[in-house]
Amino acid sequence: MAWLKKTYATQLPENLYSVQAPVPVGNPEMVLYNEALADDLGVTQYFKEKEEAMRYLSGNEIVPGSQPIAQAYAGHQFGHFNRLGDGRAVLLGEMETSRGLYDLQLKGSGQTAYSRRGDGRATFYSMLREYLISEAMHALRIPTTRSLAVVKTTDPVYREQINEGAVLSRVAASHIRVGTFEYARYLGQREDLEALLRYTIERHYPELFDHQNHALALLGKVMQKQKDLVVDWLRVGFIHGVMNTDNMTISGETIDYGPCAFMNAYHPKTVFSSIDTGGRYSYANQPNIAYWNLRVFASTLIPLIDKDEKLAGKKAQEVLEQFPGDFSQAYFEMMGNKLGIVNPGEGIRDLVQEGMVLLAEQKVDYTNFFTELRRDGELINKLRKVEAFEAWYAKWEEARVHGTTVSESEALMAQNNPVVIPRNHLVEEVLNSAVTGDMGPFYAFLEKLTSPYDDGISLQSVPADFDAGYQTFCGT
Ligand code: AMP
Ligand code: MG
Repeated sequence: MAWLKKTYATQLPENLYSVQAPVPVGNPEMVLYNEALADDLGVTQYFKEKEEAMRYLSGNEIVPGSQPIAQAYAGHQFGHFNRLGDGRAVLLGEMETSRGLYDLQLKGSGQTAYSRRGDGRATFYSMLREYLISEAMHALRIPTTRSLAVVKTTDPVYREQINEGAVLSRVAASHIRVGTFEYARYLGQREDLEALLRYTIERHYPELFDHQNHALALLGKVMQKQKDLVVDWLRVGFIHGVMNTDNMTISGETIDYGPCAFMNAYHPKTVFSSIDTGGRYSYANQPNIAYWNLRVFASTLIPLIDKDEKLAGKKAQEVLEQFPGDFSQAYFEMMGNKLGIVNPGEGIRDLVQEGMVLLAEQKVDYTNFFTELRRDGELINKLRKVEAFEAWYAKWEEARVHGTTVSESEALMAQNNPVVIPRNHLVEEVLNSAVTGDMGPFYAFLEKLTSPYDDGISLQSVPADFDAGYQTFCGT
């Protein structure tokens, strides 16, 4: 019963991957299994027995007919080029679903040809974190890789301390990254790059085959997807934390939940990652970095854009130049939605910018602000005692009823402003319980995060200075 396809391994040149079985783990225990996702993907039939599913999703048994591989890629990490690849993951294969092919990958599944000095493993803590936050992102209606299962093992994973290990099953529209193109370009064979381009377009954007310049069309498409994605991140206060080019997908899905975190008090320079000392990946710098990464992507496509390199560069530049303007337009539209402004006029940019300055000055919680604004809650009463805010509030009140009704405005706000998000202190609390043996709080929080826009739910509180000392870490 070969239900996993092998399109990546069969359609792409061999130097873009290496055949690699997952390394078995000791005493696997399926701690999380996402039945809703399994149903949605239509794979429930293959996972009838939970025991059987666990054998496959721990990597202890290979799905019949599948040929696991580790994918090769490169990437600019904090601006520097490196050869990378799946150092602790294997692609089991692709599932045929109603929405096209989806990758089924195991993460934390042992060493591969690309592990460098890494152990190929992942801690139970960090795989639970990825499961929780990626599923929260999905519920927030933000494109993301999904999590199908977490299988805990008793094999020790050595970091600063000894930890329990786990294998996460990750589902993605694909794991093709900007870094995959960088790797193909780095190899220096035009055919490799061409094969990757063809495979990528066929898999994600077959409509682009109608364009006369496929590479240029793909650049434009990826640019639009990344614009929409980062706008969505800014909408909910998400800080990815490590937007290296190897962590940027061609599908436009959020990937790699290592050091990510959600902003509480609004400040554009917010950063949580311990290694991001320069703020390269801070909240408000994310659009600039997306643009930087897209320029790297464009550079990999040059040989396929035009035989004349100079001309190719010019053509790529013309596409890239659209990004800042398109982004800014989409950003203000999104912020207008958050503010419940159904018919934004010329003034929307000023209104948003002035509002955000006030939020930063007053250290207002980003998420709660918009919900309280809609509910006319206590937080707003307090802020209105500040003269500058009161003046802003009057402008906002006028703008929101321009050519529409308060109830329409409220509906728009409810759709665009989550009430619950994976707050840092809550994430940490439930993960700490989980690793000390009590999964209860994790399950309860996960349940809450699956309906983030529900009305009538109470605001989440934020400990006053929790985030001041909060740090996240890569590759745990
Ligand atoms: P990341 O920071 O998670 O995007 O990972 C960057 C690179 O390091 C990727 O090539 C990963 O596969 C690799 N990597 C991260 N952690 C490990 C590990 N424990 N063992 C081997 N490779 C790893
Ligand atoms: Mg990564």
